[in-house]
Amino acid sequence: MNTKVDVIIIGGGPAGLNAALVLGRARKSVIVIDDLQPRNIVTRETHGFLTRDGVSPREFRKAAHEELEAYPSVSRVSDTAAAVTKNEDDFEITTVSGAMYSSKKLLFAVGKKDLPLSVDGLAEVYGTSAFVCPYCDGWELRDKKLILIVDGTHALHLAKVISGWTKDYSICTNGPAELTDEDRGELTRHGVLVHEPAIRTIESKAGMVQQVVLEDGTRLPCEGIFFAPKLTSGSDLPLALGCEMTETGSILTDEYGKTNISGVFSAGDAASEKYQAIAAAASGALTAIMINGELNGEAWEANVTVE
Ligand SMILES: Cc1cc2nc3c(=O)[nH]c(=O)nc-3n(C[C@H](O)[C@H](O)[C@H](O)COP(=O)(O)OP(=O)(O)OC[C@H]3O[C@@H](n4cnc5c(N)ncnc54)[C@H](O)[C@@H]3O)c2cc1C
Repeated sequence: MNTKVDVIIIGGGPAGLNAALVLGRARKSVIVIDDLQPRNIVTRETHGFLTRDGVSPREFRKAAHEELEAYPSVSRVSDTAAAVTKNEDDFEITTVSGAMYSSKKLLFAVGKKDLPLSVDGLAEVYGTSAFVCPYCDGWELRDKKLILIVDGTHALHLAKVISGWTKDYSICTNGPAELTDEDRGELTRHGVLVHEPAIRTIESKAGMVQQVVLEDGTRLPCEGIFFAPKLTSGSDLPLALGCEMTETGSILTDEYGKTNISGVFSAGDAASEKYQAIAAAASGALTAIMINGELNGEAWEANVTVE
């Protein structure tokens, strides 16, 4: 059976769920398809979201799901969207379990995905004592001894950012550093050690990093790690449908979340590099307002009774 609604939202993180809330309140029929594989599933706490500081990603979603229950035109499906087709008047979505849905508008809120971590032992500490965003987890690691795993132009940038939380850190470039002489000189002037040998492994106990071991045998004891992950789009579907993408896997949109394909929108991490839950939720809400405006405008045009 093919269920038809106004809007299908693929992705049920902060962006997709806040979009569903705004659209539900605007009396639009919505299906949120989500397979519960967000990037932040590795972490125990989400910080910096006012009224939700420290909430776990699971608790956040549970609270969002409960709030959405007040809006009967919104339903959620636990499934993976596997294919999307654009027809003249609608979009058809097929899921891995074989269900089919169609909608007038489509919102990709699919987030981003980490590419496989290339450092041995990093997966064991990711989200517990190794993090990617100082604004999310810097407070918890304040004044601690840290290692930054980062290279190139990001190294100096991350060093400057981290120096607001701790002065006790050094950099591992995991191989010959791709640093300009200028950046290298600036790091040296600020007393930041740069270790260039490849990382052999990260030793840890119950998710807590103990030391970073380099290929030359150097052991660097530390209490936490920040690293620069490599990201890609949370789903192949936007590209398959013809959405224009950036080199870093973001869907290109205008400031209201509209993509290059009529009727297709994107919000949250999928379409941005801000990587903050509150920014994702806000972009979901604003994009939903744009979608609702289009739906109302189209219905208005279709219902002209007086010439
Ligand atoms: C380790 C870590 C810690 C973080 N900590 C913080 C923090 O403390 N504070 C903060 O503000 N931000 C934090 N962030 C960032 C924050 O989690 C993201 O910015 C936010 O979750 C993005 O929301 P989103 O809705 O855009 O995407 P996501 O939350 O990533 O949700 C996307 C959803 O789409 C689903 N999906 C993708 N493709 C499909 C498909 N084909 N079919 C069905 N479902 C699909 C995924 O399963 C996922 O559930 C952290 C991120 C990481 C990785």
